[in-house]
This record gives sequence, C-alpha cells and structure tokens, in this order.
Amino acid sequence: MRLASEPAAPALFTHLTFGHGHTGSGRKVMAYAPQPAVDHDRPMKGFRGIIFDVDGVLVASPHERAWRESMRDLMATKWRAVGSYRPEQFTTAVYQEYIAGKPRLSGARAALEYFHVPDAERRSLEYAEQKQRRLEELIEVGEFVAFPDALRFALALRERGFRLGAASSSKNANLFLARIQLDASAQAARAAERPFERLFDIFDANVCGHDLPHGKPHPMIFSLAAEELELPPEACVVVEDAAVGIEAAKSAGMAALGVARLGDEALLTAAGADLVVTTLDEVALEPLFNGRLTRSSADSLP
Ligand SMILES: [Mg+2]
Repeated sequence: MRLASEPAAPALFTHLTFGHGHTGSGRKVMAYAPQPAVDHDRPMKGFRGIIFDVDGVLVASPHERAWRESMRDLMATKWRAVGSYRPEQFTTAVYQEYIAGKPRLSGARAALEYFHVPDAERRSLEYAEQKQRRLEELIEVGEFVAFPDALRFALALRERGFRLGAASSSKNANLFLARIQLDASAQAARAAERPFERLFDIFDANVCGHDLPHGKPHPMIFSLAAEELELPPEACVVVEDAAVGIEAAKSAGMAALGVARLGDEALLTAAGADLVVTTLDEVALEPLFNGRLTRSSADSLP
C-alpha cells in the first residue's frame, strides 16, 4: 500500500459533526500505521514532520471572545472603578498582537497592560480565571468550529506519510481536538485505510497544554514536539496563525508556515514566516518532500 500514490480526497472532510463526551474517556481509536511514503530511517533533505498550532489554525476557538467578554464583565462590575474602558477597544488586531498564542496568565497580563489597567500583575490571575470560566461555557455549548482547509491539509499530509504534531500552549486545545469528529460517512468509506474518528487521533505527537517553563515565542514547545516526532528541527514545518508562534518556530530552527485568516499577512511575514497563506489549500504538498515550502500554482490544485 503506497498511500502517496493515492489521489487526495479534498471534499471528504468538509462536513463536520461534533461529538459529546469524548474528551476524557472516549473510545480509543487504534493507532494508525501507514506504509510511509517517507523513509524515516534514511537521511534526506526535506520535511518529514508538520507541527500544528491549534487555536486559529485547526480550530476557530472562542478564546478571543472569552477574553473580550470577561474583560467587559470585570470592567462593568468588580473593576468598575479602575478606569475608562470601552469594550470596542478590544479589537481582533489587539487580540492578535498582544494575547494570541501566549499562555493564559501572560496573555491576561499583556491585555491588562495594553489597556493600562493598574496592578496588571496582581489582577492578571483573576482575569485569566474569569476568561477560563467563560471559555469553558462556550466550549460546552459548542461555540467553535474546525477549519475545513486545515483538516484537508492535515489528512492529505498524513496520507503521504508525514508525521503530525499538535503544539498549543492552551490547556483547552485537547478539549477541542477531542470534540471534533471526522465525518462518519467518509470514515466508513475509507475505514480500512484511515480509522480516525476524531481530529485528536491523527497526531503522532501531542504536546498541547504541557506545563513548560517558557511559552511562545520561546521555541521550547516546538522543540519538544519535534523530539516526540523523533525528527530534527530542520525536518519540521510549524503551522501557526500568531506572530509569537512564527517567532518560536524560527527560534527552534524550523520552517514556519503562517496562516493569515484575519488579514494579518504582514504581521506574520514580519515575524519571519517562510510562507504566508490565507488558506492551507494553497500549500503545495509534494515539494515538502524536498524541503520546499511553496504555494500551489493554480493548475496543480487538486
Ligand atoms: Mg494560534
């Protein structure tokens, strides 16, 4: 079975359903062991592992909304006397530049400092806790979606024998990954080759939410993911939507693929991304084998 020779099936995984109760004790799917298109034992120049950030890359998670709503609530209640905060100041651009990709507490502190809230250090814990409560409420009611292009990309890479990693600073990332079910009918059709039920199941390494001494832009989380994939950094591509994540990838000695879903191409390019796309459907798959991170030309799209 040579999976690399099989045509990609781009339309199969656009329909998603969300499961319930799979986050902890869900049925374990048997490990998937494809005949690799990449010979992992033979030294070669090229990429062999792709490491995904989760929020904003695989999942449109409600972090931004939770940060914004919890700030609004605190400022309207307990912190009313603190200053003249207006909720419309908390834009997506502010979120992307100061909070996205950071561990919870550093994100909270950065936001409070940005809005000139006094005693940011002291208040950051309370803000982070309020945000987490709001986030869990939103996850509970299913207020998030997976990006279909990211699922197509990840599954197409997997079919070609690349090793996949998940590396989010967020302790909630696995909640999302475990709740995203791959489409049941597509699964049944290809059951023999690809017995994945949930997005959570397609990763060879998952370092999401690990307690690490340094968050992004420190390279530690990606270095750990590469280690668990048993690959050297130069064989890995990191897929990121936040500037701090791009910086972390470059510091780790890896290639950085920026996904600019919010019109923030310039920010990702400035952070050092090797390629910036607006959808992962744009990325050419075959050149990755030769260590080239490039865009598909229009006539080579599947
Ligand atoms: Mg992200």
